[in-house]
Amino acid sequence: MIRNLVKLQHIDTQLTDIDELLGDLPIRVDELNNQEKSLIDEVAQNKERIKEIELSCSKNEGKLLDLKEKIEKHKDQLFLVTNNKQYDAIMNEMDHLKQEKDLIETEELLWLEEKDGLESSTTEKEESLESLTADLGDRRIKLERVISESAEEKSVLEVQRNDAAQGIAPPIIALYNKVIKARNGLAVVEIVNSSCGGCGAIVPIQTVSEIKNSLAVHNCGSCGRFLYKEKSEKV
Ligand SMILES: [Zn+2]
Repeated sequence: MIRNLVKLQHIDTQLTDIDELLGDLPIRVDELNNQEKSLIDEVAQNKERIKEIELSCSKNEGKLLDLKEKIEKHKDQLFLVTNNKQYDAIMNEMDHLKQEKDLIETEELLWLEEKDGLESSTTEKEESLESLTADLGDRRIKLERVISESAEEKSVLEVQRNDAAQGIAPPIIALYNKVIKARNGLAVVEIVNSSCGGCGAIVPIQTVSEIKNSLAVHNCGSCGRFLYKEKSEKV
């Protein structure tokens, strides 16, 4: 019976390895998918903002033209004034218009600076998006291949597992299932130097000899794992 348990453990270890391999790959592809999505969003946001800036700039151009025209008109009016009071009033109004014009020009400079930054960041993001998309394509192909290969391998192992389980009494299978779950996938271990190969607890000499002669199935008194011993080796 213990031979069948050893076989069962071997098969379950391989099944766990396959699941672990598969468990990691889809997560990595997911991460890349998320990165790709956020890059796409960022590029779209950048382009949206660039459009906004361009629209605001063209509105400003209209305002600037308007202001320049008004300033020119006031200059013309200066020639028509008849007293200092009128002169001061027009000069005042002109100062006011010039200040407004300066403000708009400063604002426009800031916008153009922001637009420059956005444009170069967009180019950068588009480049990384391109390489990320290529990488993702490769990984998706790899993942699909691994999944189909693993599915084949798994179904072969499932058949082998059933065969191995046939030779084991149901209560032992139930115990095995309990131990493998509780002991991180390792339910059957070899005795090494008279100690449990799983937890290191000392196994009594009498038990070792019984196990060696396949007289009975024994579990480690400390961790509960099934114990076995290759006959060729000395205890
Ligand atoms: Zn143990």
